[in-house]
Amino acid sequence: MTIYQNLIAGEWVGSDATKNINPSNTNEVVGLYADGSTEDTKNAIAAAKAAFPAWSRSGIWERHVILKKAGDEIMARKDELGALLAREEGKTLPEAIGETIRASQIFEFFAGEALRLAGEVVPSVRPNIGVEITRDPLGVIGIITPWNFPIAIPAWKIAPALCYGNTVVFKPAELVPGCSWAIVDILHRAGLPKGVLNLVMGKGSVVGQAMLDSPDVTGITFTGSTGTGRRVAAASIEHNRKFQLEMGGKNPMVVLDDADLTVAVEAAANSGFFSTGQRCTASSRLIVTEGIHDKFVAALTEKLNTLVVDNAMKPGTHIGPVVDEKQLKTDTDYIEIGRKEGAKLAFGGELITRETPGFYLQPTLFTEATNQMRISREEIFGPVVSVIRVKDYDEALATANDTPFGLSAGIATTSLKHATHFKRNSEAGMVMVNLPTAGVDFHVPFGGRKGSSYGPREQGKYAAEFYTSVKTAYTLA
Ligand code: ADP
Repeated sequence: MTIYQNLIAGEWVGSDATKNINPSNTNEVVGLYADGSTEDTKNAIAAAKAAFPAWSRSGIWERHVILKKAGDEIMARKDELGALLAREEGKTLPEAIGETIRASQIFEFFAGEALRLAGEVVPSVRPNIGVEITRDPLGVIGIITPWNFPIAIPAWKIAPALCYGNTVVFKPAELVPGCSWAIVDILHRAGLPKGVLNLVMGKGSVVGQAMLDSPDVTGITFTGSTGTGRRVAAASIEHNRKFQLEMGGKNPMVVLDDADLTVAVEAAANSGFFSTGQRCTASSRLIVTEGIHDKFVAALTEKLNTLVVDNAMKPGTHIGPVVDEKQLKTDTDYIEIGRKEGAKLAFGGELITRETPGFYLQPTLFTEATNQMRISREEIFGPVVSVIRVKDYDEALATANDTPFGLSAGIATTSLKHATHFKRNSEAGMVMVNLPTAGVDFHVPFGGRKGSSYGPREQGKYAAEFYTSVKTAYTLA
């Protein structure tokens, strides 16, 4: 089998490899991918450092052309890359193709942004002095990504990093190197000068840690667990390095008595269970007012009965497998915790077997949960959702905000008053009215508050806040 290698200083290198396994069919090896070392990571950082002066001064047309070419190729290969994504991560093929299209759109967006780089010229408060405000690239950006969006998250970090003139050392999650390798290959062939984008696949404790430990990495953008996020933060403060963290969520969806039941059920089923609940924007707390509670639970349970859990590649599958054995154990442990805490298991909770051996779990719904239970406070990251019954809107809002996280929050209501009040008073970075809490646009800011995020927002033009450093220059006229 071919070994997909790391890209360091413009060369494909590495002979140690790890198997990439399909969670829908654990007998299937998706590919062999290089397992990078500390030495590889150091070489990649040195290459990115050496490439920075020239790339930071490269013309915006060159950056535009390369990013556009990459976006075009990803779109042209959306079915093939979508299939690779579905095979390595386990989300359904339509979801995986959708994510691939989004990655292409992100490259197209930042190809455009490269042509729109601008600063400000303002008068000084002192006579005969001019002031220019510009944005400089940071330098070497370390990119560390998780497994749940194997092509979109790398795209939304790599595209702005390159657009604003930075060089990159990119470490994808161990479970999903395939899509990352593919987009690095595409960018490399699109004409990036050597060393501008380096790929080091391998373990977080080896490759990721070597990035955290290097004084030559000037910025780190990280998406992953809260625990690793804290390590990134501590190591970055040590080096006076800029960092950006996207971590967990325990996103609420409020359902009020006046909600359109169909809209509420569709939004809850989508947010809670699609992509196997493995989205940081998934809603895992459904906060439902008394008047609609029983009707809502009945309709949602009926909906869950219609959802097919099976091989991600099979037509008709709504929910693919859990990503791996470790995550499956986390999910089933939390199901046990929920039972012991006294929540009522209203649907699911069991492992299932399918034609191909994989990590299949029924969508699981708890009712009669309280917001203080562990299943309502801790991120599970699987298809496990609890329903919390509340008296009225005020209690719903207070419960929604009573969480250590603050990424996304939703409300299902036909009341303009409550929708408006919720948008203003939700303590989340993203608020959805009559929509799932997951599923966001690629051209507007993404990010949260409290334990969910740290640092500037990602995506859209707001991405510049992280990937550049503002400079104010004064000139005597
Ligand atoms: P998850 O539990 O979802 O896999 P992690 O936070 O462990 O979340 O992983 C997110 C990313 O962080 C992955 O690319 C992983 O390899 C990386 N990572 C894990 N440990 C470290 C570490 N000590 N230093 C840097 N990166 C790490």
